[in-house]
Amino acid sequence: MTTLDFVGLRKNLIIRYTLALSLIALLVTLAFTFLIMAIKDSNNSAYLVNISGKQRMLSQTIVLDVYRIKVVREKMTNNSDNNLNTELMVFSHRLERNINEMAAANHQLRTGKFLSHGNHALSPELKELYFGSTQLAKKVDSFLALAQTLNKEVVVGKGFEKISHLSQLSVLLLPELDNAVKIYQKEGEDKLSTLKSIETNVWFLTLIALVIEALFIFQPLVRKLTEYANKHTGYKRELEYQVELRTLKLERANQTLADLASKDALTGLQNRLNLEKSTERILELNKKYSTPFAVLMIDIDWFKSVNDDYGHEAGDFVLKESAQILIESVRQTDLIYRTGGEEFVILFEGTSLEDAKAKAEDVRQTFEKHIFKYHDFEIKRTISIGVYHSDIAQVQNFKQIYKLTDDALYRSKAIGRNRINLCKTSSEEVLDNVLHKKGDFVFIRFDADSFRELDKTRSFKNTDGCIKPCEVSENVFELMGVQASRLLDGEHCIREFLHPDDFDLVQRFAETGLQLSELSQQYSSKTLLWRSSFRILNLVGDAKITSLEVYFEPGKIQGSLGLIKLELFESLSLHSSFGDALLVYNFHAMLENTNDYIYFKDRYHVFTAASKTLVKIANVKDRAELVGKTDYDVFPKEYADQYFKLEKQIFSGEVEVAQEYQPTLDDEGNKGWVDNRKYPIKDQNGEIIGLFGIARVISDQEHESLLEVNSSDSLID
Ligand code: GH3
Ligand code: MG
Ligand code: MG
Repeated sequence: MTTLDFVGLRKNLIIRYTLALSLIALLVTLAFTFLIMAIKDSNNSAYLVNISGKQRMLSQTIVLDVYRIKVVREKMTNNSDNNLNTELMVFSHRLERNINEMAAANHQLRTGKFLSHGNHALSPELKELYFGSTQLAKKVDSFLALAQTLNKEVVVGKGFEKISHLSQLSVLLLPELDNAVKIYQKEGEDKLSTLKSIETNVWFLTLIALVIEALFIFQPLVRKLTEYANKHTGYKRELEYQVELRTLKLERANQTLADLASKDALTGLQNRLNLEKSTERILELNKKYSTPFAVLMIDIDWFKSVNDDYGHEAGDFVLKESAQILIESVRQTDLIYRTGGEEFVILFEGTSLEDAKAKAEDVRQTFEKHIFKYHDFEIKRTISIGVYHSDIAQVQNFKQIYKLTDDALYRSKAIGRNRINLCKTSSEEVLDNVLHKKGDFVFIRFDADSFRELDKTRSFKNTDGCIKPCEVSENVFELMGVQASRLLDGEHCIREFLHPDDFDLVQRFAETGLQLSELSQQYSSKTLLWRSSFRILNLVGDAKITSLEVYFEPGKIQGSLGLIKLELFESLSLHSSFGDALLVYNFHAMLENTNDYIYFKDRYHVFTAASKTLVKIANVKDRAELVGKTDYDVFPKEYADQYFKLEKQIFSGEVEVAQEYQPTLDDEGNKGWVDNRKYPIKDQNGEIIGLFGIARVISDQEHESLLEVNSSDSLID
């Protein structure tokens, strides 16, 4: 339907409708006009009949009045009663009025000029009556003239004859006046009946006009409209059809394009385009209905050498045939993708872990046995496979699956190729993520086996009882100064980095069957314990590493991971938190001027402040160098060991003061003794956040006598 069509239709509709309306308007106007005319005519007729009737009545009244006047006048001749005079005047006056009225009526009736009802042409019949042989007009005139005369004349004698004549005239007039009334009445009725028939005709005409309109205007109009509507729907349907057709074509084209885009040209397998979508779909099913599924990532071993040795075409050949092997090895419903040069992925939906492993092994063996015959060459290649299965690790998305599978494949390659490797469990994966996080943390992980061995020897202090970590992050070197590989192969033992006094933790760890919950209860302060025991604190100040974490994986505790987290802080930053200026001033004054060795340490056994005297005997240039170091950094190990033991008492919360006579070296390197006392420093919550110590030099003699006193004390006990 074009715009032109629509404009034509609109014009047509308007014309037809206007015509129909005009016709009806015309007919209605006609009917109305005739109605008005009828009303007017009936009104006129009534008036005419009325005055003609009145004229008849007046003729008689006039005669009667004339008689009355005559009687009064006769009376007056014998009587001069005033009342008679008045009576005469009344009658005479009335007569006069009636004469005038009748004269006026006669004038109107014979001329057809009515006072308030317009002109009325006289019919021939009336003309005949008034002016023809009957001469009614004239007769009335003479009658009225006579009455007029009688009104004025004194009626006596002769006058009586005149009155009789008037009476005769009146009698003669009556039938003629009657006739006039009849004629007027009849003419009025005739007109009305004519109007009535006209009215009926107009009504009839209106009906016919309506029928004609219905037939010739409205019906075609409706037809046109229906046609238009039909045409329009047809057009719409046509349009819809066209759109559908085009959509279909487009869909087909898109499908073809999608097929082209998602197919690998060389092997005919799907490429990686739809891999993510399919995997997510399978994963969704797994989440909803726990449908197991597996993902195999396959990589041809040493494939590059096929190209290198036999040419690129040979490589292509091997790839195509490899795809064929894969297609033949799996069910039709399993989805195979070529995801890279010589990499393939297979999605197994609804497959158990056992079946997936068996299938992977099957495929691996098929490749191992297969000979690719390319022209005269016989090429053999193996494959490495990484396997993910939904029972092994719970994952959230495609990415996680492929990370796990890729890692598994990578391990297959790393440990010799031509093998399958299952992906790591979720917890292993979590751990892996932590282990590979470089920079801020150092991770050391021990597995159950290393502890089982330790269990046999029952002593961690014993060299045989060294626990070997199974994973160590590379940056351990920065922190502990030892290569990760050396820790892994046991060349260096973790024990070397532990203070002997902390061996009990490891021992306990092994003995308790590695119950994590128990362990965390017993060693709630383990962070401190371990942390302080490593001789690594001297690195804290300048290393970027701020934390060290050691993981123990308990033997049979499934799904959980023994974890001891050790955190290192930059001791210098702790030191800088001293606030009050005056306090600091006094504090420094004390540290400058005392003869004793005074020092402050944080809860990690790190010096935060020390007196000048202590700086002198420590192996450092100045105070700044001492801050941030431990005893192990600045004193011989055997001395540091003893100091450390005392500090452990403080931090364990066992004592309010830890005291011992301990060996020391003076600033010239001579051996001496000190009365070493350490006190806890607590925060407002009562937590021990550090310690302060004061060591006073005692002479050898003093020391000996003190020892004697102590031994005699013990004897008494
Ligand atoms: P690895 O065992 O570590 O997997 O060794 P590789 O040689 O198989 O692996 P590498 O990734 O070093 O080499 C893959 C080679 O595959 C490199 C590339 O030239 C070749 N390649 C990738 N796509 C095609 C291809 O469509 N046709 C051919 N002929 N070679 C391909
Ligand atoms: Mg590869
Ligand atoms: Mg390869």
